[in-house]
Amino acid sequence: MAESKRDYYEVLGVPKTADDATIKKAYRTLAKKYHPDANPGDAEAEKKFKEASEAYSILSDPEKRKQYDQFGHAAFDGGAGGGAGYGGFGGFDGADMGDIFGDIFGDFFGGRSSRGGSRYNGPMRGANVQTSVRLSFEEAIFGCEKEIEINFKEECASCHGTGAKAGTSKETCSKCNGKGKIMYTQQTMFGTMQNVQTCPDCGGTGQIIKEKCPDCRGTGYITRRKKLKVTIPAGIDDGQCIRMSGAGEPGTNGGERGDLLVEAVVSKHPVFVRKDMNIYSTVPISFAKAALGGPIIIKTVDGQVEYEVKAGTQTDTKVRLKGKGVPSLRNKAVRGDHYVTLVVQVPERMNEEQRQALRRFDELMTGKITKEDEGHKKKGFFSK
Ligand SMILES: [Zn+2]
Ligand SMILES: [Zn+2]
Repeated sequence: MAESKRDYYEVLGVPKTADDATIKKAYRTLAKKYHPDANPGDAEAEKKFKEASEAYSILSDPEKRKQYDQFGHAAFDGGAGGGAGYGGFGGFDGADMGDIFGDIFGDFFGGRSSRGGSRYNGPMRGANVQTSVRLSFEEAIFGCEKEIEINFKEECASCHGTGAKAGTSKETCSKCNGKGKIMYTQQTMFGTMQNVQTCPDCGGTGQIIKEKCPDCRGTGYITRRKKLKVTIPAGIDDGQCIRMSGAGEPGTNGGERGDLLVEAVVSKHPVFVRKDMNIYSTVPISFAKAALGGPIIIKTVDGQVEYEVKAGTQTDTKVRLKGKGVPSLRNKAVRGDHYVTLVVQVPERMNEEQRQALRRFDELMTGKITKEDEGHKKKGFFSK
């Protein structure tokens, strides 16, 4: 199908500015006209039908339409419209096609294949499943292994997913003769129309389970609790997800399983606050320590570290402890920083001696006492 392709707008006969409703209407009209059921054996009609369906699948999707407007057919290189026959138009994934046809017609592709699924018959990927895991503040920072328990849907071992009781098999639905759909004619203002409906007896599968498998009650699947080990990467943040591929719901018609998305729910820490890769905390220091300087102990996620407070430190001074923050998810050797706010504490309660000392200190600071005096008296106080 590498030959020149017609412009999608031209195929549907709509202007480039057409809104969604116009596109849908144009497609509906064409699809009805060239519907394979209305034109049995007409290869030209079938081609037109496929062409219109392909155009619609692109133009009805805002994202794809944007790409098409920008890059033309080149946006979907990789076999769009590759003549895969019914049940797939190359290039487009099955879920999309199912949605489109479910939307426009209900089901009419069903029944074309021998298995007669009600919608798209090719392999369909299973749904993703979401769960969560609770982590402590430190577990999120340094990573860990966690065991979680999930509901895991898998093929029933007794019936191998058929849903039919062991020793019995599915039977062809007599209502639709295995086609999964029923055709009926209807008089409309355009004349006699043939319409297609999903078979109500078999739900479009074309097969009826006479005796249901007792283990799965005919569903073909059983759900059991399954324990899974989840490796939590260092640096994960609250609300981020870990994707475990293949741990979601099983696919259909040989499609692969969906994924399990495990959301991290991180507990708050009594001292540390995290923001992206940095950690913040507040450390009180005494007035004397702030004025005189000296070592203090600061708690970090790596344990306690000693920090030398500079003499004359003001309250709300911010200190950076480099590399004591959160590891990068991509490379745990790269770490954020820990910012500490030093808050100078004013003593709330003092005894008489302390009060006297402070009064004396104040006098010294306001210069009421001479330099010589200062040296002498100070010595006296602190040696007491
Ligand atoms: Zn079973
Ligand atoms: Zn049926």
